[in-house]
Amino acid sequence: MRRMSLVASLFTMLLLGPAAPAARAAGTPAGQLGSVLKHAQQAHDLEISDADEQKLGAAVSERIRQRYGVVQDPAIHKYVTLVGDVLAEKSERPKLAWKFIVLDTDGVNALAAPGGYVHITRGAISLMQNEAELAGVLGHEIIHVTEKHTIRAIQKGKAIQIGANETMANNPAIFNKLVDKATEAVMDGFGRNEELEADQKGVVVAAKAGYDPKGLGSFLATLAERNKNSSGKQGLFASHPEMDERLKKLDKTIADQKLTGAAVLEARLHEHVTYKPVALTSVTTVEKGAAGLAGDSGGKPEEGKKAEQGKEGEQSKSADGTDGSKKKRGFGLSKLMGGGGEQKSAETTGSAAARGVDTERNAKGGANPAIVPVTVTAAELTAFKKDGKLS
Ligand SMILES: [Zn+2]
Repeated sequence: MRRMSLVASLFTMLLLGPAAPAARAAGTPAGQLGSVLKHAQQAHDLEISDADEQKLGAAVSERIRQRYGVVQDPAIHKYVTLVGDVLAEKSERPKLAWKFIVLDTDGVNALAAPGGYVHITRGAISLMQNEAELAGVLGHEIIHVTEKHTIRAIQKGKAIQIGANETMANNPAIFNKLVDKATEAVMDGFGRNEELEADQKGVVVAAKAGYDPKGLGSFLATLAERNKNSSGKQGLFASHPEMDERLKKLDKTIADQKLTGAAVLEARLHEHVTYKPVALTSVTTVEKGAAGLAGDSGGKPEEGKKAEQGKEGEQSKSADGTDGSKKKRGFGLSKLMGGGGEQKSAETTGSAAARGVDTERNAKGGANPAIVPVTVTAAELTAFKKDGKLS
């Protein structure tokens, strides 16, 4: 528990260090960080102000968008946002400033950052057969946000370590490390318990909104099929026993809680989504892509694949000390498919396996990271629900 004491000393430095009052001046990055960590320390689990959570989430989203780019199409964003908003209304944090962002990559993935930043890839959407599947995946991601799984991950096992020479004076660098950690947590996928929680509460939210709660399981089955014949490592996920277990748990949740919801909305999805899926073997990947994302502690915006090739998280690794290889492992939907934390340890040294499972994650991304602004009026949301017989 060396880690814990390091964290404790970080808190001490932040809260009591002589430089703290100045650095905590309003609006400075240092002030933001102090605030984030102060809240984290006080409650030692989930107490973090919405504003701090937003700041962290915005920074994590920025990293993700720099890496994969954003589909610059207002229409697809509007559609995904409408579905997302219908679900968010039924979540435990309906008032959060939810953002639903479509990433410009063929890779299949979905990533939830703190504060309501839900990302889904073009590749994932292209594989979906109906709106209930989209709702299933978004519902799962929404739960990662409402349950603050990223914050939990940072506080639990991925604590920031701080070197002896680090002080408030270089606090912005520490803030970047915090963003690194959050990004890493988001990209790696969460622990088994968090994934199961997201599955189980996610389908409840989908059903509450009127969607067929089997959407998530249905999409996972599509992913299993996609990975079935691929050489090497993806197959590992497709045939992983945890996938079966997971689908069974989903079915059980639906049965036990008598979840119902009739809306499947196959035609409506295809009205809005015209993407053609790209076979796993045809997905263009970026060498060493994923690792660079969480490792860019310098805070310098990455630019497409170039950023991936160079540094590959040097700063983050040396700061971590413990386990730099972690960031190469399972992720988002693959993690979601394969299940939980066991894989993290199983794959710790398996670089070949790690490369393999990361095909979707290492997929090439688009060049434009700008968020596409979406406005959904109350009337539009009502009409959308009515049209889909949603509640
Ligand atoms: Zn998940």
